Amino acid sequence: MATIAIDPRVSSRTAGFVSTDHRMLVDGRFVKAASGKTFPVYNPATGDVIAHVPEAEAEDVNRAVLAARRAFDDGAWVRMAPSERGRLLWKLADLLEKNLDEFAELESLDNGKPFAIARVADVPYSVDMFRYMGGWATKITGSTIPLSCGYDFHSYTVREPVGVVGQIIPWNFPLLMAAWKLAPALACGCTVVLKLAEQTPLTGLRLAQLIDEAGFPPGVVNVLTGYGEGAGAPLAAHDMVDKVAFTGSTEVGKLIVKAATGNLKKVTLELGGKSPAIVFADAKLEQAVAGTASAIFFNHGQCCCAGSRLYVHEKVFDQVVEGVGKIAEDIKLAPGLDPSSQMGPLVSDEQYRKVVGYIESGIAEGAQVAAGGPVSGMERGWFVRPTVLTNTNPRMKVVQEEIFGPVVCAVPFSDAEIDKIIQRANDTVYGLASSVWTQNLSLAHKVARGIRAGTVWVNCHNVFDASLPFGGYKQSGWGREMGEQVLNNYTETKAVTVAL
Ligand code: ADP
Repeated sequence: MATIAIDPRVSSRTAGFVSTDHRMLVDGRFVKAASGKTFPVYNPATGDVIAHVPEAEAEDVNRAVLAARRAFDDGAWVRMAPSERGRLLWKLADLLEKNLDEFAELESLDNGKPFAIARVADVPYSVDMFRYMGGWATKITGSTIPLSCGYDFHSYTVREPVGVVGQIIPWNFPLLMAAWKLAPALACGCTVVLKLAEQTPLTGLRLAQLIDEAGFPPGVVNVLTGYGEGAGAPLAAHDMVDKVAFTGSTEVGKLIVKAATGNLKKVTLELGGKSPAIVFADAKLEQAVAGTASAIFFNHGQCCCAGSRLYVHEKVFDQVVEGVGKIAEDIKLAPGLDPSSQMGPLVSDEQYRKVVGYIESGIAEGAQVAAGGPVSGMERGWFVRPTVLTNTNPRMKVVQEEIFGPVVCAVPFSDAEIDKIIQRANDTVYGLASSVWTQNLSLAHKVARGIRAGTVWVNCHNVFDASLPFGGYKQSGWGREMGEQVLNNYTETKAVTVAL
């Protein structure tokens, strides 16, 4: 096994966890992979290996699914008082909150994001998601329905858990994505097999320990580490899984749908995006500049809802591009655990190459670099400078494809094109999110109505709340996460009719 190098800035507690002999949670026990295989986890700020974790494959997936199946079919979890299920979710939230700094350090070390961001965003939002969904556990109700076919019937609906759920999550918000997935499934009474992203397994493995500590019954939550093809694919295909919930690339989303056809399990998907931010000439410019810069640079652009196409009215185009460019140039690149860091490295060498490749392809196709560019200037680690491209055209790869990095294409539009701007914003296979920047109320609502996306932000971007549904139109996905609406993903509706 290679020498393990952990960042000296992490606390001894975090370092202790990182250097443990990592185990997955299956059927209430902490286990190695059936094959005994492990795979390396990297610090993206240095490229060093920091840990080795079990490499789950089909046999491990099968064991975890059988455990979740037993935990569902024996009925104890489903019959547990909803208030008790809610209490367990609250207890998990409390434990997570108690270990806020440790989770923020782990997330920063493993994913690369600044510690300060993980501490104020990833971890508290995860805590909030468990609490919010814990509240729903007691409020999953049906309705009584008057029938027109005859008076002498009494009909009502009940909402029942969909069963065993396979959940596959990405690396951009490792803990938060685990919370978005686990919390509603558990509130609804499902049992779960969660597969963490291979790039970022550490917070999920630590969460598994808290799940055990909180007292969830064995088999209710199973947590696996493994690669997409080795562990994700058999989970999506498994016949004893009733539903698969996936967050990741649109390309893999399509594979999940195919894998799910064997037993026609239910599928929900939260996929990619190429979200437009539209700035009109009457926008409050300071707010629009700061907001659209944050829309693309937050989390290093590794957000499915990143505002990666910036449409700006020509009257204010130069000002906005200059402002966003200045913010880009001023952002301090440093390892996430460095207190001065405003942007850490991308998550992996693969992502680094992909994002730099996009910047280079844009330049080769004639785009101009208004800020940033393909060379980070950093000695080591997978850093990419926040980059603003202008002089693009709608057919360029950088305008059409999801880059998933801190790269924005700024495009001017004229008065004559105002009516067409909605059409241009919609000119993508995606439909996840968008933002509109204007003080004109009616224009804001008109654009909001016309945009084919699951989220429209007005004079803001990246505002998330456990109570707000989030998900995509078109190839950005199926179904919604969060809010009351996510409960539909994890319940079946049963109609009961009684002849009186
Ligand atoms: P990205 O391209 O951003 O890395 P992916 O869509 O490849 O995102 O990965 C998101 C999640 O999907 C990860 O947990 C990954 O292991 C998993 N995954 C990748 N390929 C497959 C597959 N063929 N079947 C199931 N899961 C997969």
